[in-house]
Amino acid sequence: MSNVLHDLFVNGLPADRAKPCFMLRDGRNVSYEALSTGAAYVAGRLVAEGVQPGDRIALQAEKSHEGVMVYFGVIMAGAVFLPLNSAYTSTEVDYFIRDAEPKAFVTDPVRYVEESRAFAPLTQAIPRGPDDLAAIIYTSGTTGRSKGAMLSHGNLAANAIALHKAWGFTPDDILMHALPIFHVHGLFVAMHCAFLSGCSMVWLPKFVDADVLEGLKRATVMMGVPTFYSRLLANPQFGRESAPNVRLFISGSAPLLPTTFAEFEQRTGQRILERYGMSEAVIITSNPLQGERIAGSVGYPLPGVELRIGGGEETGVIEIRGPSIFSAYWRMPEKTAEEFTKDGFFITGDVGRQDVDGRVWISGRAKDLIISGGYNVYPKEIELVLDEMPGVTESAVIGVPHADFGEGVAAIVIGKGDEAAMIAECRKRLAAFKTPKRIVFVDELPRNAMGKVQKNLLRETYKGLFA
Ligand code: AMP
Repeated sequence: MSNVLHDLFVNGLPADRAKPCFMLRDGRNVSYEALSTGAAYVAGRLVAEGVQPGDRIALQAEKSHEGVMVYFGVIMAGAVFLPLNSAYTSTEVDYFIRDAEPKAFVTDPVRYVEESRAFAPLTQAIPRGPDDLAAIIYTSGTTGRSKGAMLSHGNLAANAIALHKAWGFTPDDILMHALPIFHVHGLFVAMHCAFLSGCSMVWLPKFVDADVLEGLKRATVMMGVPTFYSRLLANPQFGRESAPNVRLFISGSAPLLPTTFAEFEQRTGQRILERYGMSEAVIITSNPLQGERIAGSVGYPLPGVELRIGGGEETGVIEIRGPSIFSAYWRMPEKTAEEFTKDGFFITGDVGRQDVDGRVWISGRAKDLIISGGYNVYPKEIELVLDEMPGVTESAVIGVPHADFGEGVAAIVIGKGDEAAMIAECRKRLAAFKTPKRIVFVDELPRNAMGKVQKNLLRETYKGLFA
């Protein structure tokens, strides 16, 4: 029997295994041969130490290529990979350990891989079918207990194959990889595209302007969160000549501002390809490789993904079904049941619409919807108006308790301006119930590791604004 993911990785290995998989910051290369050998030692060790198929192996560490060897080795050994955000504190980690009960917890992958060489490498992957569990990804969940999305070999393989094709990866590509590898974006979306095509990656521990600019001299594809692109734009050294070979810039994990899209096109001549995904489904929609990429739209559902809008209105919660979508949250049958419809669609919690061409537009998270005086207010609509105003870099619109309206609309804005004049300007373009009653100017918005604005923190900070 086969091991679905491992077979896929092995299939994608370049004919010449001495080819670099990782191009490190210090100029060294680590070959595909070194990756697969390292993985075989890790797998050999896991099996020798008694790890059974389905056992969880946790990794919490700073990004390294040895961490990838651990991932590859865990898959080869038939075990389940459990990556944890390197920023989690020990109290947070305690919860994940108690919940997932991993057999091993790796915190120093460099040493772990080194010590694994004392064991016999595994020569044949432990068989795993499409429905067998490959990874558990705890969602960044801003309220309540974090949920572990269970992704199978079949889920990850289906998405990897779809993306590799949709984005036209070839062995000649060089992928700029500056994302963390504890999240689906850097771990599955980016890395699986590289593995399936056998292309090389410029491997950076994190986004540092100078390193990214250096790497972009040779990269052909870059994947990033929107903040990567705004940081490049903020750097006066960045321009058309900075990325002479890049054929594709991809953005996701958080909304890309239309202003960033436009400025990026102006500066580089390239239209960023925006896509939409989540831990529970990896990638769901993408703008096209060939064809029109539209600012503000996340594109079309990937082949095989069924997408619909729940609730019978034009705009509503996006529901999805398809081969890459997870089947359950780890040890949370009730939560799982709540988040799937009777006919098997996953209720994403993202509010959006699909236009007549099939393009998907996201207007925010359902839990960020504001209900002011009984009217539904979608923050995105107001943010788009504010973002176009001079002096505004970015805005986050939230609902906070208001004695008359239940919730009052408030805007937290990066930038400077005249509050009263801006409110008057909004009022010209928006109904009164949507117009912010207050605008607060700040230097930064709170964000998580993937660049997502944490509106729950903003609601907490500004809960007394209308008191
Ligand atoms: P996570 O599970 O941490 O990857 O978060 C997934 C969530 O990120 C989605 O449910 C969306 O709310 C958001 N997201 C991801 N990509 C996009 C995008 N291109 N535009 C808007 N929101 C996005």
